[in-house]
Amino acid sequence: MKFNVLVLMILLVGGNVPAQVKFEAIPKELAPKYKLDFNRNFFSSAETQQAELKRAFAVLEQLEKLKGKVTATADNLLRSLELSDQVSTQFYRHIIYLSLRYAVNTKDESSNSESSRLSSELSKRTSFLQQELMRINNRTLAKFLAQKPALKEYGFVIESARRYAPHTLSLKEEELLAEIEPLASDWTAELFQRALDRTQWGQVKAGSETLDVYQQFQEIANSPDRAVREDGFRKTYAALASQRDIYTFSLTRLIKTANRLARVRNYKDRADEVHFDMFLTTDEVRNMYEKIARTGDTHKRFQRMRVDRVKKQSGYDEVKYWDRNFSPANSPLPRFSIAETTRILKDSLAVLGPEYSRELAALLDPANGRLDIVAGENRVPGAFANGFLGNPQSIFFCFNYEGYFDDLDAFAHEAGHAVHFQLMGYNKVRPAYSDGPSYFTESFSMFNELVMIDHLYTMEKDPERKIYYLEQFMTYANYLYSNTMTAAMEQAIYDKVGGSDNTSADDIDAIAKSVGSRFSIWFDKQDELKMRWMDVHHFYDAPMYYPNYVYAQLLALKYYELYKKDPKKFVPKYLDLMRNGFKAPPSDLLKKFLNIDLRDPQLAPNAVGILDDKLDELEVLYKK
Ligand SMILES: [Zn+2]
Repeated sequence: MKFNVLVLMILLVGGNVPAQVKFEAIPKELAPKYKLDFNRNFFSSAETQQAELKRAFAVLEQLEKLKGKVTATADNLLRSLELSDQVSTQFYRHIIYLSLRYAVNTKDESSNSESSRLSSELSKRTSFLQQELMRINNRTLAKFLAQKPALKEYGFVIESARRYAPHTLSLKEEELLAEIEPLASDWTAELFQRALDRTQWGQVKAGSETLDVYQQFQEIANSPDRAVREDGFRKTYAALASQRDIYTFSLTRLIKTANRLARVRNYKDRADEVHFDMFLTTDEVRNMYEKIARTGDTHKRFQRMRVDRVKKQSGYDEVKYWDRNFSPANSPLPRFSIAETTRILKDSLAVLGPEYSRELAALLDPANGRLDIVAGENRVPGAFANGFLGNPQSIFFCFNYEGYFDDLDAFAHEAGHAVHFQLMGYNKVRPAYSDGPSYFTESFSMFNELVMIDHLYTMEKDPERKIYYLEQFMTYANYLYSNTMTAAMEQAIYDKVGGSDNTSADDIDAIAKSVGSRFSIWFDKQDELKMRWMDVHHFYDAPMYYPNYVYAQLLALKYYELYKKDPKKFVPKYLDLMRNGFKAPPSDLLKKFLNIDLRDPQLAPNAVGILDDKLDELEVLYKK
């Protein structure tokens, strides 16, 4: 799943659905089929589930018997690693099952709490493994590997644990930190939410209707009435400004605490820690932001082209920030019924070959009970895929499939994760290697989005729709810029707070404006945008997550470049990479399978080159 704060919603011009035909995303008679079949895909009955859970705990107890003795002998080491794989497979099956039970029925709170209980129990009772693996020395490891060649398969598990040795404290200190860290860090997300909750957002009059500035944000931003859009924009920022002391307090304290805790573990600061997790360095990440910022004109060019087009369509003297979603009257958004979405996904991703297509088709067939996409009461928001660890069949859940382009896109993205799980499963990837750094796993799904949109654009004959699809491609590909902007903004705020005892809201505004204006035309035109930092929720609930989006998008664009250049050569190697699992750092795997150098200085310029070329095409289409 991904979230973006500066989504440029671009509305369709044209469309050929007769107004009198009511669009139905999922026909009523088919709706009951688009539900997860828990019996078929998880446990045949509640009794079976309970019995299996007992077995899972029995395996966990076997693993615990090795506590303190994991690295005593080569046999113990291999046995611990094998048991650990079994334990995660079995536990995750229940954790996922229970969390899905809750996802489709949020009244089922006992499933939710049981799911969290199992995952915290699992991490608590298996954490000794990391501690012991980390302390194994080179000589012992070499000896064990010679005695038990089967240990080679676990080389990267051991290496990953040892990588953290310089950043791990004594067992006693770690236990103390485990208790203190949540208290020191967990409050920010909640304080952020409370600040939002108590804000008087106000209302906007739209004809006879009154719209809530916070709740009906989308409706206001896409209103055909210009005054409504402007009023909504101004009230949003006035409301944010009214709580600016709270946002400043939360963010600066959060950063101070994160930096301090990082130093306790021998990192330079929080950024150093986060980038270490990504197998990158802060210098590399900063350089990447700078490189992309220097090509900010490509993004600005797209924004200006959109402004010109809106100007022509609307007749406004000056197109303002709140006009960028403008769409002419009588031009409905394209909608995609579930049958169309299924067909589009199959057609567009067929380029990935027969195995991929077969797995995709199996996921999309409602008879298999692996989709849960129909609106209803008491469902969790969002969209996600689960699989592999814990379940032989991956699944896809979304809150409410409404058939908008974003729904189609989410399908392409999550189906990418779901098929990836299947490919790893058939290739018998070890559970320990089922997951990599977020940017790496996300890059595959983002590539799916680009392939799907590119297919729609290429195949489309209707000129207005062709423009629409190309604009969609630009919007999704341009997340490279909006995400880098947000990531660079966050990094700059960390730098400022890290080097000063007193950072004010005005200081942060100034940072946001100077970073923002390198990427977007709007920061200079609309002064309120300097307050964007206040409601980027990840700044408060997933601090420093943004670099993942930047690298995921860079990689997705790299795959896209290779794919367009020579699909026959690219696809088999790409599939091998997906099947392989994550048994080495991303840079090694990218090099080995696709000959991509994650540190190639051309990575960003090549990605931007793709965007430039597409903009040229869009310019031609606009002129027609
Ligand atoms: Zn994802």
